[in-house]
Amino acid sequence: MSSETIDSDPLDQLEAEAERRETQVLIIGGGFSGIGAAIRLRKAGIHDFTILEKAHKLGGTWLHNTYPDCGADTPSVIYSFSFARNPEWDRIFAKQPQIEEYLDRIADEYGVTPHARFNVQVTNASWDDDIQRWEVDTSEGTYVAKYVIAAAGPQHEIAMPDLPGVGDFGGDQFHSANWNHDVDLAGKRVAVIGTGASAMQFLPKIQPLVGKLELYQRTPPWVMPKMDRGLSEGYKNFLRRFPAINRAIANAVYYGSEGLQYAQRHPKAMMQIQKIGARHMRSQVKDPALRKQFTPDFVMGCKRILFSNTWYPALTADNAEVIAAGVAEVTQTGVIDTNGDHREVDVIIWGTGFRVTDPDISHRVTGRNGKKLSELWQGSPQACFSTVVSGYPNAFVLLGPNVGNGHGSVSTLVELQANYIANAITTAEQAGLESIDVKQRVQDVYNAEIQDALQGTVFNAGGCSSYYIDVNGRNSSIYPWTTLRFRKDTAKFDLDDYETTVAAPKSIPVPA
Ligand SMILES: Cc1cc2nc3c(=O)[nH]c(=O)nc-3n(C[C@H](O)[C@H](O)[C@H](O)COP(=O)(O)OP(=O)(O)OC[C@H]3O[C@@H](n4cnc5c(N)ncnc54)[C@H](O)[C@@H]3O)c2cc1C
Repeated sequence: MSSETIDSDPLDQLEAEAERRETQVLIIGGGFSGIGAAIRLRKAGIHDFTILEKAHKLGGTWLHNTYPDCGADTPSVIYSFSFARNPEWDRIFAKQPQIEEYLDRIADEYGVTPHARFNVQVTNASWDDDIQRWEVDTSEGTYVAKYVIAAAGPQHEIAMPDLPGVGDFGGDQFHSANWNHDVDLAGKRVAVIGTGASAMQFLPKIQPLVGKLELYQRTPPWVMPKMDRGLSEGYKNFLRRFPAINRAIANAVYYGSEGLQYAQRHPKAMMQIQKIGARHMRSQVKDPALRKQFTPDFVMGCKRILFSNTWYPALTADNAEVIAAGVAEVTQTGVIDTNGDHREVDVIIWGTGFRVTDPDISHRVTGRNGKKLSELWQGSPQACFSTVVSGYPNAFVLLGPNVGNGHGSVSTLVELQANYIANAITTAEQAGLESIDVKQRVQDVYNAEIQDALQGTVFNAGGCSSYYIDVNGRNSSIYPWTTLRFRKDTAKFDLDDYETTVAAPKSIPVPA
């Protein structure tokens, strides 16, 4: 106990104690990851856990993103938990409201919702070696937890370019992840900045409404046809009656998407696949000059592959203009591009994505070394099995560094990581351990192998600059092998990989 606490007023002390809640496992975030981890903990017989979610409900990405036509780019048959395949999807690629609904339902069905506390933001989490616990400061007081699982989302903190004049703009402006539904776009001059996955969905939807649409395109993306369609009641009925068939379809789609991983390791193979994208463009864009403007100068897969049947028709519509430049400055009335041209607009929509390699949570978590994760990482996140970081005992991160693979479904990765975490906690509890901390050497070997395997892949050698590559030029996002291999990495928890402590904590009893 610190001298500060001893000297303080006993009433204040009592109040502070009352605000200190204890939980065995604290989960930060209630999206796909937080829900998936919670379900897996329950399955492992761990019921003393709390989810803290700063929003008013569960759903994560699928609660926060409500832009027009927001939906999945992964077939929903696999963008769902393997133990809860869903026969109810209305489309092959479900839209946001139905994914949010799915997560709500699963959280209820698997007994997760009662563990969640909403409108609670985690502001700081520090490991205390004396008591062998995490002290977690939140907007509703302090939690003391033996284990912490960060499930705060890899695509949650929006990325806004730091441009002069952004604050001076006199019209409406918003990021796609904070869509302002009060702004009526009808007949307006609208600038869209960015050509990522979100812009690909909302731009074709707003193009027919707006007066003038200007897309600021620094680099054109590769766009593949989207094999989407509505699913009939008859088909859904069939899946309801035969869940094994739904699972078999999911397996087929899963293994099909794993195939892409092999091509991603060989840019030449990706160049064959990108011919489908080139054909798609040729079939939709007749003007050779425009086709030239829309053709990427990098190999497909170097940036995230995008899917749309409506992107090119929207961009070639009469009210649309593609400006092959970035934005240099925002003025009170419009946008100045990197060629120095100024265009007046009424609304700016920032489709500029997320801070993937500099997650906010890394600025809030302090390990046994007294360092925040962000100070340790210096812009290049590293973990072992994408899940544990040496020096941060009893802490886990979902969808952490080098877990993405540019194909397949994030829900698969969450399940594999949650499995590892549940095994870790169960093993530690059974062995009567106070803390487990992955060995630095194990983490270093793991990361060296990853970085080695990434050399020559389309992600590193595809000729683009992408959000996979961090500020130090290191690929901190991508796992270079199949998820089948990641399944193997995470299937077993090996205590030999860890430093452990067995000392009884000084002031907090070991949870039952
Ligand atoms: C528009 C969009 C479409 C996508 N489509 C696909 C797709 O088709 N396929 C695919 O595989 N992936 C897709 N993704 C990636 C997607 O982010 C993941 O699939 C998944 O939803 C991530 O889940 P998560 O729980 O890790 O993070 P999130 O869903 O982002 O949830 C994190 C939660 O943590 C909360 N939180 C954050 N910080 C704190 C804090 N300090 N205190 C308390 N709570 C906090 C947030 O409020 C949020 O609710 C998409 C992403 C976006 C943005």
